Amino acid sequence: MTRVLSVVIATTNVGKLAELRALLADLPVQLLAVTEVLGENLAINEDGATFEHNATLKARAVCQATGLYALADDSGLEVAALGGRPGVRSARFAHERATDAENNAALLRELEDVPDASRAAKFRCVLALANPWAPAEVETVEGSCDGFIARAPRGSGGFGYDPLFVVPELAERVMAELSDAEKNAVSHRARAVRALRPVLVRLLDERLREVERALG
Ligand code: IMP
Repeated sequence: MTRVLSVVIATTNVGKLAELRALLADLPVQLLAVTEVLGENLAINEDGATFEHNATLKARAVCQATGLYALADDSGLEVAALGGRPGVRSARFAHERATDAENNAALLRELEDVPDASRAAKFRCVLALANPWAPAEVETVEGSCDGFIARAPRGSGGFGYDPLFVVPELAERVMAELSDAEKNAVSHRARAVRALRPVLVRLLDERLREVERALG
């Protein structure tokens, strides 16, 4: 497939990167990891109060640093019994440099006394696409996935809170027990990518028209 548009994925999270690559694989877009383009050393403050704000900050910073279209993912888990926490602090729930296992353990501890019927949770994902020709205009889309929090971790797939996130529509398996294709059919990230498709298709059309004009 001829890939007519290059987009840098503004994340160092290997789980997100693999899922975004799989979810966008059918489009003629060259997806570059930010580490491939810039090395490891772009520090971005993710101190916004919303997923949308953080995704926009990341997309804009990587777009400015690379001069390329940049796609950022800000996502996390909202637990109803915790008033929506951990939310934007999902990656740093246990402490600033927490591992996924530490975050899962912290979540289970906080929900120890919460009965099964009150363990509802939602994964949310906001994707932001920054355009190097119009840096002020960052497009954002979002997707979510409803489920609840299990009492112990299960499965070995995915990343983050996947071992604890039960997906009711898939026989109550947790996300870490799903195949990549199953997760990519129902996840918050998959739903956000679905919303992003028309934006990318419009950019691809514009790009093709530019190429046609240049060729006369
Ligand atoms: P961010 O880098 O601030 O967007 O952090 C996102 C955090 O949310 C991750 O480190 C995970 O803890 C959690 N998260 C986001 N998406 C997923 C997912 O698909 N599965 C499990 N955890 C996720």
